[in-house]
Amino acid sequence: MKKEYAKMDAALLHLANKKVVLKLIKHNKEISRSALAKESGLTPPSITRIVDELINVDGLVESLGVGSSSGGRPPMIVKFKNDNNYIIGIDLGATYIRGCMVDLNANFISEIQVPTELEKGFLSIVDKVVKLINKLQSRKEPRAKIWGVGIGVAGLVNSKTGIIESSPDFGWTNIDLRQELDKHLDLPFFYDNSTRLMALGEMKMGEKNNQKNFAVINIGYGIASGLVVEGNLLKGFSGFAGEFGHIAVDTDSTVQCKCGMYGCLEALASGHRIASLGKQLLAENGSELLNELCRGNQDLITAELVARAAKKGDPASLKIYDEVAEYLCKGIGTLANLLNPETVYIGGGISLNGDLLFNLIEEKRDKYLLAGNTRVKIQPSTFGDQATSIGAVSVVLEKILNLELSGAKKTK
Ligand SMILES: [Zn+2]
Repeated sequence: MKKEYAKMDAALLHLANKKVVLKLIKHNKEISRSALAKESGLTPPSITRIVDELINVDGLVESLGVGSSSGGRPPMIVKFKNDNNYIIGIDLGATYIRGCMVDLNANFISEIQVPTELEKGFLSIVDKVVKLINKLQSRKEPRAKIWGVGIGVAGLVNSKTGIIESSPDFGWTNIDLRQELDKHLDLPFFYDNSTRLMALGEMKMGEKNNQKNFAVINIGYGIASGLVVEGNLLKGFSGFAGEFGHIAVDTDSTVQCKCGMYGCLEALASGHRIASLGKQLLAENGSELLNELCRGNQDLITAELVARAAKKGDPASLKIYDEVAEYLCKGIGTLANLLNPETVYIGGGISLNGDLLFNLIEEKRDKYLLAGNTRVKIQPSTFGDQATSIGAVSVVLEKILNLELSGAKKTK
């Protein structure tokens, strides 16, 4: 019995050491075996054994041969094996399904986008996701390996059960996406709330990936947030943390939110709200420019079109964005005073309309911030409209670096 325990401990220890070495190699781009021994505190024979395994068994490291020496034995250099190791990331949105295949350094190999066609129902959407994954897979080189698929989906994903308990964007309640995908996918796959994944992508691959406290606000059809506190992605008791869109920013408001409450930030400042205010403007003949841009067709009015009119100097369209920015600043003020983040990143469709919204936010933000919190930076998210896909990729990369995906078997 004792012997078995000892064996198990040795195996666990080996795995823990291997993870440390793999992460050091990934972090350093190129590193010698002797430097690995020095940085990890492991003995040179242990490093040799682990690195050989990572090269020959896991296929995650490659040898670059002998480096130049400044005296003594020439160093043996290794690097993280990026080529021919791929991950697929999916952004499952209510309007589009976007998929990308990237290498392990998130360099794009291939991308596909298809309309979601929400009205065709859940099974049709699953079918589209599966076809998109198969198509991306068919574009890889024969020798290349796809390690897994990450999927970001709009909605409340229960982090324990994987059930999408509610998704107003899709009109879903208690959907078991895992069970359905399981029938069709041979690759390991993982999914989570799209905004939380945006935050994970920012944390793992963003321009300042060592930040410990920040928030990502996703403003599109709805509004949500992903929160990183002390280096941890906040999930909450059931995995629903970050429902930033449903904090009340106007308790007297008569605008009802999809959640049933009145005066939620999402009801007053989302892309959907901007578009409906634009439509109202058109109905009241309130903007000649907007009328011209949509050629009198209210169905063509989107948040982006209202932004275009505002940028061309249309006062009524500008007023819409001004009001939206005010509400957003109220919300951001609450969030920043509560969590004291270093940066608040804004992503989602609305963030792609250039400087208009950011300039308005810059003007108004400090009104709602405690003096100590005015240092917070508010800026566009690093990855623009690819933020969710990159976040989805990051989930799989984390699993790879934790050596949870070395087998070809499906992992849940
Ligand atoms: Zn609400």
